[in-house]
Amino acid sequence: MAEETLFSKIVRREIAADIVYQDHLVTAFRDIAPQAPTHLLIVPNHVIPTVNDVKASDEAALGRMFTVAAKLAAEMGVAEDGFRLIVNTNKHAGQEVFHVHMHLLGGKALGPMLS
Ligand code: AMP
Repeated sequence: MAEETLFSKIVRREIAADIVYQDHLVTAFRDIAPQAPTHLLIVPNHVIPTVNDVKASDEAALGRMFTVAAKLAAEMGVAEDGFRLIVNTNKHAGQEVFHVHMHLLGGKALGPMLS
């Protein structure tokens, strides 16, 4: 069985979070420390520690993450002006929670991405 993570507890609603979308593949909730007016996290319901661990059997959930990102960007009113999707992997990217998650950031001009 995959390792337990903070985000799998949120998926199972064992830890409180502001969940804005959930289906049988993915869950989306508001980041607890938002870096932009809209800052959501979209996660697969099952644990994939990092992008390095992704397998073909994860493709349905990973694809759904993009579908849900587009839907939520539209619902949150950030689609037209634009938004950023980020998936951090391991220490050089500053990954803190080892359960693959897509950040959806929008609601302001975000500035240069790379540093
Ligand atoms: P990363 O650095 O890509 O691993 O991002 C982890 C993100 O999880 C950070 O933006 C945190 O603010 C966020 N986070 C940590 N704990 C929680 C929580 N309980 N609920 C919502 N977001 C969280």
